[in-house]
Amino acid sequence: MAKLRWRVTLVAERPSGVTTETELACIERDQQTGLADLGLSLAEAKQVTAALQAEIVPAQMTVLGECPRVCEACGRRLASKGSSAARFRSLFGDVPVRVRRWLVCPCGGKGEAKSVAVLDFGRGAAVAPEFAYVTAQYAALMPFGKAAALLSELLPVSGTQHASTVRNRTLRVGTQVVRAHAAARANEPALSASGPVVVGLDGGYIRHRHRADGRRFEVIAGKVIHADGAQHRVAFTRTGPAATAEAFRAALAAVGVNVDTPATVLCDGDAGLWRLQREVLPGATVVLDWWHAAVRFEHALQAARGLGANTAEASLADTAVRGLERAKWRLWHGRWPGCRRRLAALSRWMQRRPVRDVAGVDKVRQHIAALLGYLERNEAALVHYATRRRGGEPIATSFVESAVDEIISWRMAKAQQMRWSRATVQPFLDVRTTVLNDTLEDAFRRRHPGFRPANENQRLAGAAA
Ligand SMILES: [Zn+2]
Repeated sequence: MAKLRWRVTLVAERPSGVTTETELACIERDQQTGLADLGLSLAEAKQVTAALQAEIVPAQMTVLGECPRVCEACGRRLASKGSSAARFRSLFGDVPVRVRRWLVCPCGGKGEAKSVAVLDFGRGAAVAPEFAYVTAQYAALMPFGKAAALLSELLPVSGTQHASTVRNRTLRVGTQVVRAHAAARANEPALSASGPVVVGLDGGYIRHRHRADGRRFEVIAGKVIHADGAQHRVAFTRTGPAATAEAFRAALAAVGVNVDTPATVLCDGDAGLWRLQREVLPGATVVLDWWHAAVRFEHALQAARGLGANTAEASLADTAVRGLERAKWRLWHGRWPGCRRRLAALSRWMQRRPVRDVAGVDKVRQHIAALLGYLERNEAALVHYATRRRGGEPIATSFVESAVDEIISWRMAKAQQMRWSRATVQPFLDVRTTVLNDTLEDAFRRRHPGFRPANENQRLAGAAA
C-alpha cells in the first residue's frame, strides 16, 4: 500500500527578494494508523525543530556579519577582522556558527588594535537565554540529574545533558542574571515598599562539600510580606557578621525594603538573627515567635505534672502547674514583668522544703530556669500577643518555616545527595528564591532585551483564538 508522505520545506525570503527552499524533513506513515503513529512523534518534532534551527541561526549570523558597523565616536566604518568559529547552544540543538569580528576604531587613541565580535559568544560558545532560563527554572525545582533527563527527553538538545552541565549553567544564571537583576532592582526607587512589611527569619543547615570545612553550614531563609499581601522569599548563607548583614541588606533591597521601611521582624529568638535585625532594620518592631515560647512552657508543664507522682506530695504538681499556667497567661497578655515574677517565685518555692526533696523537682526547675533565660534574652521582643492576634498581626514564624522548607530542607539537605560549598550555594539560593518568587523571567528580561516580551503570552493566545 502506498505511504502517506509529508515534506517539510523551509522557504526563506531575503530582503533582496531572493527566495530559497530547503527540505527539512520528510514524514511518512502507513495508511493504516494506530494511536501511536497518529500525528507527530517526539523524535520527529525534535528533528524538525533542530533542522529549522540549523537553517535559521547561521542565516541570521551571516546577515548580522554583513551589516556594516560604524564607530560610535567618529562615524568611521569599522574594518573587518574576519570571523571565528563558535557554537550556539540552544533549546533546539547546538548550531555551529561563524562570528564576525570588527577591529575597534583607532580614533580612541588606544595603542593596540582590539576587535569586537558582532555578538558576544564568549570563549567560543553561547547559551541561548531561553535555554539557560528553562534549565535554571527546572534545576531550581528538581534534582540536576532529573532536569537534565527532562530536557534531553523533550528537546533536541545536543548530546546527553549531564547533571553537572545543568548545575553549572544554573549557577551561572545565579551569578550573571539573578544577582544583576537584584542589584538593579535595589536601585529602583519606584519599587520601594509603600506600606509596612513583615519580615520573618529562620535558619537551616546545608551539608558541606568538604568534610574538612565542618560538616554543615548555615543558610538564613526568610519571607517578606508586603502590605498588599505579596510575599517574597530571601535566602543567604551565614558567613562573617559583616558579610551576612550585607547579604541580608541586599536581599531586602531587592524586594524594596530598606532601613526606612516600617517593618516588623519575627524570629525564634536566635541571638544571631536579632543581631542581623539590629544591624539592618534597627527601627523594626521585633516579635519573638509565640510558639517557640509556648513549647518551652509546655516542656516545663509536662515535667510539673509528674511532680511527686504516686506519692503523698502529688498535690504539689497542681501548685506548680497552676503557677506555670498563670505565668504563660501573663506572657500572652503582654505582662512580661508579671510573668517573670511568677516564674522566679515558682523557682524559689521549689528550692524550699519540703518541695525541694520531691521526686522530679530538679527537672521542673531546670525547665523553668531555661524558660526564664530564654525569655530574658528575648525580653525586647516580647509583645502583647493577645492584642496582636486580635488585630490580625503575626505572632508566629510558621510562615517562614515553610519558606525554609521550600528553600533549603527539601532540596538541599534531605532529598539531595548534592553537597554544597559556600561558593556554589549562594548562586543556587538566588536562582531558587527567584523561581519561587516567580521573578526569573523578569531577571532574564533585564539581562537580555527582547527576551520573552511581557505581553507575548497574550499575543500568542490571541493568535491561537
Ligand atoms: Zn572612531
